[in-house]
Amino acid sequence: MKPIKLTATVSLILLFMNLNATQAQTTAQISYTVSFPEAQAHYAEVEMHVTGLKQNTLDLKMPVWTPGSYLVREFAKNIEAFNATVNGKIVASPKLNKNTWHIITKGVAAVTVKYRVYANEVSVRTSYIDVSHAFLSTSGIFIYPANMLHAPATITLTPYKDWAKVSTSLEMVNGNPFVRHSPNFDILFDSPIEVGNQDVFGFDVDGVKYEVCMYGGGNYDKERVKKDMHAIIEQEAAVFGENPNKHYTFIIHNHLRGGGGIEHLSSTVLGVSRDNYGTEKGYQGFLGLVAHEHFHLWNVKRLRPIVLGPFDYDNENYTTNLWIAEGFTEYYQEIAVRRTKLYSPENYLGQMANEFNVLENLPGKDVQTVAESSFDAWIKGYRPNENSNNTTISYYTKGAIIGMMLDLEIINNSGQKHNLDDVMKYMYTTYYKTKKRGYTDAEFKKGFEMFAGKKLDDFYKKYVNGLDPVDYDKYLGYAGYKTVNELADNNDAALGITTATTAAKKVIVSGVTRGTAGYIDGINVGDEITAIDGNPITDASTMLTGKTPGDKIQVTVSRDGQTIVLPVTLLKNNRVKYKIVSIESPSTQQLAVRKKWLSL
Ligand SMILES: [Zn+2]
Repeated sequence: MKPIKLTATVSLILLFMNLNATQAQTTAQISYTVSFPEAQAHYAEVEMHVTGLKQNTLDLKMPVWTPGSYLVREFAKNIEAFNATVNGKIVASPKLNKNTWHIITKGVAAVTVKYRVYANEVSVRTSYIDVSHAFLSTSGIFIYPANMLHAPATITLTPYKDWAKVSTSLEMVNGNPFVRHSPNFDILFDSPIEVGNQDVFGFDVDGVKYEVCMYGGGNYDKERVKKDMHAIIEQEAAVFGENPNKHYTFIIHNHLRGGGGIEHLSSTVLGVSRDNYGTEKGYQGFLGLVAHEHFHLWNVKRLRPIVLGPFDYDNENYTTNLWIAEGFTEYYQEIAVRRTKLYSPENYLGQMANEFNVLENLPGKDVQTVAESSFDAWIKGYRPNENSNNTTISYYTKGAIIGMMLDLEIINNSGQKHNLDDVMKYMYTTYYKTKKRGYTDAEFKKGFEMFAGKKLDDFYKKYVNGLDPVDYDKYLGYAGYKTVNELADNNDAALGITTATTAAKKVIVSGVTRGTAGYIDGINVGDEITAIDGNPITDASTMLTGKTPGDKIQVTVSRDGQTIVLPVTLLKNNRVKYKIVSIESPSTQQLAVRKKWLSL
């Protein structure tokens, strides 16, 4: 799409519209009270006061999505019992659309609005309330007046029973932890709030106050967590040359099974399995998650694709650059931990090989480019189905791989003078700090080229906007490494399906990989595999025992209540499993690149 050229008249109208909006911003005062009288039933009660109104109508809106999670979630679906009052009398507040309420305010200076929010979805991006705590993912809790996104607001929290603590990056008002100030709605929607009796501890990193708030228990070692977080934070700040926050809050939810995180401007929310801290693998996963979400405070929250801020809270915000915003964050989460020396180089190389294996075993790598994967996050990445592996890739995975390729290219080409850090720091300084805006595709490409010392048109054509197979060995070769496929000699037969076994020992097909025997010969997702060559099947792991590629077998499935026998010709299992190994006798140049890349 081409941007609309503004004529003089249109510009003037826009100028006036802006003036009106500014006037509304500076005159209206907004405050909220959030209480939890029915915490046991997962409800918050919100009361909103808007005073100083000088407009004929007031439209109140709820965001349809939360920044950082690229899916329209329709938060207004959780609102009920919405009513508006003026001078104590209920006034009409009809809905104009799914997320907008309309109130006539001619001659009215103040409006009070009350509503309940149902909050019973456990995730890092949705609100959850019960008697033990309230986690408020603010974009799904607070409605805002249209055209007043720049207005400040005060939020008063009325805790349930003995809840004694509030953890959020919003500033306290008069030292009262239950009263918080938000300078504008972009900040409010980027500042989740935890209320309850969480375990809170903190530390300082170069003058920035860090607060960690743990909900849900867990076998974490507080001192170890503090020390390791500290080390990661230092490494990440060094990439950009500064830490722009005065304080930062980690809200960590520990559950039986938890996972994932979401970034915010001055805080993050992490989901962790509460016994994960006790195993080396689990703990490393936790550190990787910390490194990932914290790195985002620069990459995507401040250094960001041009459409990602200020946000449109009513619609999808499309960008082809999530491979930088998310993929590079994925790349840096491992590099940052490696730089702390909490990972060995071998451990780090193993993590990168895992990324290769995820991408290479996805048929979607031949279908969807990483730019398309970014753009379609809203309808594909966040809405996967049984066929997603055949048709899509993750911008996290391929973005991390591209991050590695460009890092090695820059290190090699600059005679180890530069690396990807220089690009990140330059882009942050130029676009976030100086120009105070996001970047375009072309601008980031220029940043890469500046430090790689060469044009990257061909690279972009192949790997960003194209489907060329990744030439791992070319890039790893700069550092004297290469890939070895550990399954190269494997001659196992495979159907190319994934299955789940029910409690009743039914083997149900959950995925069929493009190009495999199961795909070609018509096994479907949802089929129950009942027999192979007439032998009943109750265990998917042994169903091909003794078979070899080329064997013709009869697969009996139950599909929609009917029995179907499918003749299938088995093919060789074509999955790959790479590891990264050193070449024999790397050169001095290769060892120098390796040293810079892996902080040896
Ligand atoms: Zn991320």
